[in-house]
Amino acid sequence: MYTIQHLLKVIKALILLPLVFLLGCAGSGGSEGPVPPESHGQSPAPHHAAGKFRNPYLPATGRWGDFWRWRLGLGPQENTALPRESLPPYQPKILSPDLNCLNHADPQTIQVTWLGHATFLIQVAGLNILTDPMFSDRASPVKFAGPKRLVPPPLRPEELPPIDAVVISHNHYDHLDKDSVTRLGPAASFFVPLGLADWFRQAGLPRVQELDWWQSATFGPIRVHCVPAQHFSIRTPFDANKTLWAGWVVETPAGKIFFAGDTGYSKDFREIGRRLGPMRLALIPIGGYMPRWFMKPMHLDPPAAIQVHRDVGAQQSIGMHWGTFKLTEEPLAEPPLYLRQVLAEQQIPQEQFLVMGFGETRVFSAAPERVAVLPSNQGVGGP
Ligand SMILES: [Zn+2]
Ligand SMILES: [Zn+2]
Repeated sequence: MYTIQHLLKVIKALILLPLVFLLGCAGSGGSEGPVPPESHGQSPAPHHAAGKFRNPYLPATGRWGDFWRWRLGLGPQENTALPRESLPPYQPKILSPDLNCLNHADPQTIQVTWLGHATFLIQVAGLNILTDPMFSDRASPVKFAGPKRLVPPPLRPEELPPIDAVVISHNHYDHLDKDSVTRLGPAASFFVPLGLADWFRQAGLPRVQELDWWQSATFGPIRVHCVPAQHFSIRTPFDANKTLWAGWVVETPAGKIFFAGDTGYSKDFREIGRRLGPMRLALIPIGGYMPRWFMKPMHLDPPAAIQVHRDVGAQQSIGMHWGTFKLTEEPLAEPPLYLRQVLAEQQIPQEQFLVMGFGETRVFSAAPERVAVLPSNQGVGGP
């Protein structure tokens, strides 16, 4: 039954159409594109598809119909994971970063500061590494519209210690923000999934290296591995899935750090664990999951995040991608409480899967079995 409310939603959605395309993280994309022909007698990689990329375990059809069903409120109604009345009002824990601590990180340990959403400052082996830097007020191509930040960034990019390396998971606006990356300056080296290097060069950031899933690069004392994720890319109405999405494993002398990026659950996590695990630390999304009928292929919920924690053999995990922007329909306060409940049900110690405050810094000791230190003649320097 269509009502005047539906009509109003259609009008509002049409007005916002350009933005809808750009707010990809809401989950509009599906895997799409024809499977390319076999070439040179070799099977093409299952995520490559004639100028585009696709998810190997999802049907090769677009999801625009479902996207509009969701946006117009026509999909099935879902209950929240925890009873709505049991949830407290959202009150983010905001801390002032200790700049002295950030400027004097112990290179033998892994020091991690959460800067909101999927942005972490990781300090290890004398390097300062950022994940998906996002410091802007809106996850949007324009400053006047689009999802607004609910919690201010704990630091401005200029207040960070000099950034050596940055890993980027994909091109959605809440993960790849032009103002944020350019303010890091041209000295930082960016590691990006296939198809994104030109965007960085055009943004005046020449030190960029793009990698396909399972490709690796050495950067001074660390090695960076691009690994699969189940997600999609879109930044304009014309570029759906033309650039790749990925997670990253950063192999350091203090242990391996897994940054899952933005992802739904797939059997690839077990493969990541088999090939590259165990992880000393895993940064795993716990928000962006409702409604499940639409978000599940593209976004983890806390039970799936815990499965990823297990699959990659994480000694320690930290939840991310929650509480910073309102992108999906779960209550803002729910992800960490839901995580805590499922950890308890599965008898996993709460400390094994942390949720940090905004601006909070934690220091983790080196992995008990330290990974082999790379030869010192690899040379420091970016791509
Ligand atoms: Zn995304
Ligand atoms: Zn996202």
